[in-house]
Amino acid sequence: MVTNSEIAAMLYEFAELTDLEGDVFKRNAYRRAAQSIEELDGDVAEYDREGRLESIPGVGKAIAQKIAEMVETGRSAKLEELRSKFPPGIVELMKVPEIGPRSLVRLHQELGIKDLEDLRQAALQHRIRSLKGFGERSEENILKGIAVVQGQGGRMLLGDALPIAEAIAAHLRAGGCEEVSVAGSLRRRKETIGDIDLLAGSDEPLRAMDRFVSYPRVASVVSRGPTRSTVRLADGTQVDLRVVPRDSYGAALQYFTGSKEHNVVMRRIAIQKGFRLNEYGLHRRDSGEMVAGAQEAEIYRTLGLDPIPPELREGRGEIEAAGEHRLPSLLRLEDIRGDMHVHTVMSDGRATMREIAEAAFRRGYEYIGVTDHSRSLHIAHGLTVDDLLASVEEARQLTDELGFPVLRGAEVDILEDGSLDYPDEALAQLDYVIGSVHSRFKMDRRTMTERVMTALSNRELNILGHPTGRLIGRREGYDIDIEQVMDEAARRGVALEVNGFPDRMDLSDLNCRKAIERGVTLVLDTDAHGVEQLDNMRFAVGTARRGWAERKDVLNALPLDQLRRFFRVAGA
Ligand SMILES: [Zn+2]
Ligand SMILES: [Zn+2]
Repeated sequence: MVTNSEIAAMLYEFAELTDLEGDVFKRNAYRRAAQSIEELDGDVAEYDREGRLESIPGVGKAIAQKIAEMVETGRSAKLEELRSKFPPGIVELMKVPEIGPRSLVRLHQELGIKDLEDLRQAALQHRIRSLKGFGERSEENILKGIAVVQGQGGRMLLGDALPIAEAIAAHLRAGGCEEVSVAGSLRRRKETIGDIDLLAGSDEPLRAMDRFVSYPRVASVVSRGPTRSTVRLADGTQVDLRVVPRDSYGAALQYFTGSKEHNVVMRRIAIQKGFRLNEYGLHRRDSGEMVAGAQEAEIYRTLGLDPIPPELREGRGEIEAAGEHRLPSLLRLEDIRGDMHVHTVMSDGRATMREIAEAAFRRGYEYIGVTDHSRSLHIAHGLTVDDLLASVEEARQLTDELGFPVLRGAEVDILEDGSLDYPDEALAQLDYVIGSVHSRFKMDRRTMTERVMTALSNRELNILGHPTGRLIGRREGYDIDIEQVMDEAARRGVALEVNGFPDRMDLSDLNCRKAIERGVTLVLDTDAHGVEQLDNMRFAVGTARRGWAERKDVLNALPLDQLRRFFRVAGA
C-alpha cells in the first residue's frame, strides 16, 4: 500500500530532480501536484481506482500516469531513471542555501562533487573559486550554508520522521514481517530525532532485509548485513533496521528504545535482583536461563516494575514510580474530544469552517473550535471585528445544520502592551479566546513577562497559545519567566497550550510537566492550517505524555458542557 504522503514525497523528489535538469516549469508542476496530494482528503489509490486522478488540482495527464504507476507498483520507472543521472547525495546538497540547481550540476560535472563532505573539502581546498562564475566569497558562503544544513541536519522534527518511519514499517509488515516497531527517540516521541531506528523480530532476517532495501524511496544502501542494515532516502534521511530473533524481540525493543539514562538504571536493577539484562533477553545470572525476552512488558514485570510507556523512559523518576506502582495513567490520543486551535480560509487556513467541522466529525471528535487570526496580523489576513462577528453566526448555523458543535474562538494577538487585539465587547461574543504573541519577540524578560501577565488578567482570555514562541531549529523562545506565567494561569483558570505543530511543540515536554505540577490545565491543539494537519494532534499528545500528563490535566479531554464551564469561569 502506497500512502498519500509517500506519493507526495516521490513527486517532491521529481520536482527536485527536474529542477537539477533545469526545467523550472516541470519542477513547479510537480510541486503543485505534491502539495495537492498532501492536502487531499481521501486516498490517492481510490482516486486511481475510480479514474479520477486528473480531478486533483495540479494533476494533468502526464503526472496522473506517474501517480497511477506509483499506486500500482510502489515505484516510478521515470523517477528511477532521473535518480540514476545524479549521485544519491545530490538532493541533500540542494538543501545548502547558497547553491542553486544549476551551480550544483556544474559542481558535480566539473569537480565531481557528490555529497556534503565533497563540497566542504572542495571549498576548504579552494577548488571552487577556480570555476567560472564562482569566487572566494562563494566558498565562504558555501561553508556557511553547509553549517546551516548540518546544524538542523543532524536532527529531524518528530512530525517529519514519524510518518516516514511508519511508512517503512508498513512496507515491512506487508512483506511478511509481523513484528516491527520504531525504536529509539522516535518511539519515545522526542520533539527532534537523529536517525530513524526500526526494529523487527523475525526468524527470516535476510528476507526482512531484502524487503527493507526494496522500499521505493531508498536512494542508496549504506550497509547491509544479516542483523543490521542502513539506507539513505532521497532527502538524506538515514534509516537503520535491526532484525532480531522473535524470542529476543521484546528485550531488543527495550534496549534500542532507550534512553541511555533509563537503561543504565534498568541494568543496575537487573543486577541487584540477580539477573543480566541486554538486547537478547533477561537471564538469570547463576543458571543463565532466559526468563524474559519476547515481550517487553515481561522484562519490566520480572524486575518488579510496572511496564513503563516509552515516552517516560528518560531517567526522570519513572523507574522509581514504576517500582512503587505510581506511574501516571497517561493521556491517550482517544481521550482528546476536540481540537481548539484551527485556522480557516477566513485568515490563513486552507479549509472552510464547514470542511473543518466535517473532518473533525469524521475523526470522532465531539466538538471543534475554529480560531482565526486577529486584525493586527496582516500577513495572516487577520479578521476585522465585523468579519469575526459574522463568523460567529456562521458557526452557530453550522452547528445547527450538522448537529455537531462548532465553537467560534479566535487566536488574538497579544499586543506589545499586553492588551488583546479586539475590544472586550467583541471577544465576549466568542465561545472562547486564545491569546498568542506573534510580534516583538525581542523584549527583555521582565517586559515580556509583564506583557503576557497583563494578557492573562483579561477576563476574556481562556487559552495562552504556544506559550514560549519557539520554532524548533529556527527561533529560540522569547525570554519569559514561564513559571510565573504558569502560576498566574493556574490562578486565573487560563489553560496553557501544547501546540502540536511539528516545529512548535510548545509547551515542551519538560514545561508540560512543570505546568501540571503547578496546577495548570493544559489544552492540546494542532494549530492546523488545513484539514490534513488535524493529524498533528498525536504529536501534541506525545509531548504531553512525555510531560506525564493524565486525562484529568487536559481541557479538551473534557465533555462539551465541562469545557464550556471552564471557559465561563476563566479570568475570575
Ligand atoms: Zn499562533
Ligand atoms: Zn495559530
